[in-house]
Amino acid sequence: MLSQIIEQSNIDKVEQYLSNYNKIVIVSHVSPDGDAIGSSLGMYHFLKSFDKDVTVIYPNSFPDFLRWMPASESVLKYDRHKKKADEVISHAEMIFCLDFNALSRIDAMKESIEKSSAKKVMIDHHLNPEPFCDVTISHPSISSTSELVYRLINRLGDYEEITLECAQCIYTGMMTDTGGFTYNSNNKEIYYIISSLLAKGIDKDDIYRKVYNTYSEDRLRLMGYVLYEKMQVFNEFNAALIWLTRDEQKKFSFVKGDTEGFVNIPLSIKHVKFSVFLREDTEKDMIKVSLRSVGTFPCNKVANEFFNGGGHLNASGGEVFDTMENAISLFKQAIIKYEDLLTQKE
Ligand code: 5GP
Ligand code: MN
Repeated sequence: MLSQIIEQSNIDKVEQYLSNYNKIVIVSHVSPDGDAIGSSLGMYHFLKSFDKDVTVIYPNSFPDFLRWMPASESVLKYDRHKKKADEVISHAEMIFCLDFNALSRIDAMKESIEKSSAKKVMIDHHLNPEPFCDVTISHPSISSTSELVYRLINRLGDYEEITLECAQCIYTGMMTDTGGFTYNSNNKEIYYIISSLLAKGIDKDDIYRKVYNTYSEDRLRLMGYVLYEKMQVFNEFNAALIWLTRDEQKKFSFVKGDTEGFVNIPLSIKHVKFSVFLREDTEKDMIKVSLRSVGTFPCNKVANEFFNGGGHLNASGGEVFDTMENAISLFKQAIIKYEDLLTQKE
């Protein structure tokens, strides 16, 4: 049995909205990851089984290795189809905001979502949700939004309505936000949920292969280059940095998603407990920052203080609107400031 972590009053409200409304929009954050896509397409398939008029909209596109996900081809990308997306949003009666806690995380979509009079339901697991929704289902202790979507469906009494496609999407989000169940994954109820998704017919080994083992040769060579030439280990701080310029990405025919997971690699060095990856964005004039840690080191605090960002304790992100040189200097300032925490014995 799953514990009932979502408050009954929130379940009741979602149930009431679902019985009253037909036109539903699902949105998730910019550069959607496996959990953003898994939770939103999982919800999409669930709502489709009730014949709802559902549209999933993301601020921009997502990486190739997630394109196999059922119904991913039906997603509207706001940066390419703004007019159509705005029209769909303006007619929406209900909007699910999945896997983000602040309107700033949906970039240019912010305005039309904010202005919409539709009932808004947030389902998310990031700390400190902003109060822009009618219903806020926010549980930072749960490792993925996809798991929360499963829990919501279950509490609505609709386990039977979960299709194979819905189960595949939910499983993918649970898997990617825990690094294939290697971190944030000690809650025994995760495995109860996986078991019930397996009962729906998912092939978890196949999903793993589709997500993690379908990279290009260029990506592997870029990884080799990065580890050999661009990873700097600050042994006395138990920290590591990787940085990548636009030119370097071009040299390896970079496509979105190619650097996914790079930030985790330095954490496999025995003593390293904090890793930062700086990448000049290929679409926007900024440096995208990814931060990871093991144990209790709070990379969300560093993301917030130094890189205009936030996130989870062990996985965070941010953005720097400055030169690479200055971004590297911010990293150095951060490890100096946090030296005590970085060097303390766990
Ligand atoms: P990633 O490194 O995979 O891009 O992001 C890891 C986590 O950091 C995300 O799941 C999200 O919670 C958070 N994150 C990433 N980028 C940003 C950002 O620009 N701002 C904030 N507030 N959080 C971010
Ligand atoms: Mn997530």
